Amino acid sequence: MKIAVLTSGGDSAGMNAVVRAVVKVGILKGCETWIVREGYEGLVRGNDHADGSYPEPPTVPEAASEAHHGHPTNLLANLRFGDGLLLRDGTGDHRGADGSGNSTRTLAGRYLVRVGWDDVRGWFAEGGTLIGTARSAAFRTPEGRTEAAFNLIKEGIDAIAVCGGDGSLTGADLFRAEWPSLVQRLVDQKRITPEQQARHKHLRIVGLVGSIDNDMCMTDLTIGAPTALHRICEAIDNINSTAASHSRAFVLEVMGRHCGWLALMAGLAAGADFIFIPERPPDAKTWEDEMCETVHRHREIGKRKTIVIVAEGAIDGDLNPIRVDKVKDVLRDRLGLDTRVTTLGHTQRGGSPCAFDRILPTLQGLEAVNALLEDTPDTPSYMIGVRENKITRVPLVEAVKMTKAVAEAINNKDFKKAMSLRDPEFAQ
Ligand code: ATP
Repeated sequence: MKIAVLTSGGDSAGMNAVVRAVVKVGILKGCETWIVREGYEGLVRGNDHADGSYPEPPTVPEAASEAHHGHPTNLLANLRFGDGLLLRDGTGDHRGADGSGNSTRTLAGRYLVRVGWDDVRGWFAEGGTLIGTARSAAFRTPEGRTEAAFNLIKEGIDAIAVCGGDGSLTGADLFRAEWPSLVQRLVDQKRITPEQQARHKHLRIVGLVGSIDNDMCMTDLTIGAPTALHRICEAIDNINSTAASHSRAFVLEVMGRHCGWLALMAGLAAGADFIFIPERPPDAKTWEDEMCETVHRHREIGKRKTIVIVAEGAIDGDLNPIRVDKVKDVLRDRLGLDTRVTTLGHTQRGGSPCAFDRILPTLQGLEAVNALLEDTPDTPSYMIGVRENKITRVPLVEAVKMTKAVAEAINNKDFKKAMSLRDPEFAQ
């Protein structure tokens, strides 16, 4: 089997660990492994072979093929550490000449790259995604997906692992479902042969959830959310010392889109006087009183600092967004507090993944390759999740459907339904 792995949508810590795990496990299981640069956009653009720049693929380490034949125990000791494809830019730096994570010199015109064991060495410690991510308008169109199918078939790839958010996984499921018709179109256009059609009757797909928001249903945690939470906690710790020194109040806006997980968990982990999350909107008429009473009470018992956390998607009961500047004004005008606003922004996304964002993608990468190996036209496409500390496989469509239903319930002010969908135990 030839497996390609891509990262799509917004970046998150742990995506590199996914790529590393899929590549290494793929090799251990006897597969040929590829990466796709720039998400679906790379699939649509494919490889430009015309300039003769297409290199010989690196060989799979001998020990890896031994493992395939049943000698896995000698594997790590016997691996040869030769040059990896992504390292061949002469700089010895796998980030490449432009520092973007790709070598512009060796990879120009090529979006699908065969990779070996060494190409992904140490990737679990790298933030962001070294293979690039993008939002691809072209992939949303049937024409774009036809090109993507053509580019995969051209390289003989028959399985892809997609790491991204719910949009990316929706795209993956659609691509797999319409694959036979895309392939037929390519035959009709005489761009592939009937033999190629016969070999590529089915596309195997698996999804892994990379998102800092932790907003996907049917999994307890998404890859990147724990690291983003760490970043927020570090920021609050830093703010705490200066806030206490000057007896100030700070209003912090944190990411999470329509999900309050980051805001809520940051409040638990680093301390907060008041937290606004989308899932529990405060009454539009009374939230100012409620917040001021709480903060005042905390001040009265001796607190020298105030931290209010606002999730970026926070709304009040009338669905008006909770604005950090408004919260700041209320604290200043009603309580007389010297109040500052801090928007953490993209510092939450970046940096080295925390330990759990290395462990989770590694375990899920293993499960993803297993799911691909067992994928048939009769099985659903799976999303790899984690539930109660166990790595799980759930039908991708169901997870995406439920995630969309949560967003819709929040839009319809049905917060109880939203929470019940996210966590079935909540309903009981
Ligand atoms: P994030 O949570 O970080 O936004 P995401 O995966 O939800 O990540 P999107 O921008 O929604 O991000 O999707 C990423 C890409 O997936 C899109 O640019 C598009 O190429 C593809 N995609 C999303 N939805 C669809 C769809 N319904 N059909 C085909 N492709 C899609």
